[in-house]
Amino acid sequence: MSEPSIFTRILQGDIPGEIVAETERVFAIRDIAPQAPTHLLVIPKTQEYRDVAELAAGDPALLAEMVSVAQRLAAEQGDGDFRLLFNTGAGAGQTVFHVHAHVLSGSLGEKSLVGE
Ligand code: AMP
Repeated sequence: MSEPSIFTRILQGDIPGEIVAETERVFAIRDIAPQAPTHLLVIPKTQEYRDVAELAAGDPALLAEMVSVAQRLAAEQGDGDFRLLFNTGAGAGQTVFHVHAHVLSGSLGEKSLVGE
């Protein structure tokens, strides 16, 4: 068994964190260093998938559930529109290797991150 990730420790109540939503397989917390007015992390309860590529290959239904929870939270806590970000690999800024989706919403502006 690998060591519990920081997100697993929050889920288990071992370290503080604001859990804002929970389903049978997924939970969401508020990011400690927000990059947008609403910045949440949607996380599978299992930590067996390191990143979104592993998750997509191993359990696409769980990935779809994360997207659905992200959409609901952006509607409830943001302005309904949202950016969904998976840093994948250390070179892309991933620091926690327990797959998680960043949900960014509110005052993002019209500019996309790429393509303009
Ligand atoms: P990443 O860099 O994509 O792996 O994202 C990890 C995210 O976890 C960062 O945005 C951090 O701000 C966030 N984070 C780290 N520790 C905590 C914590 N204790 N509570 C909430 N968010 C955290």
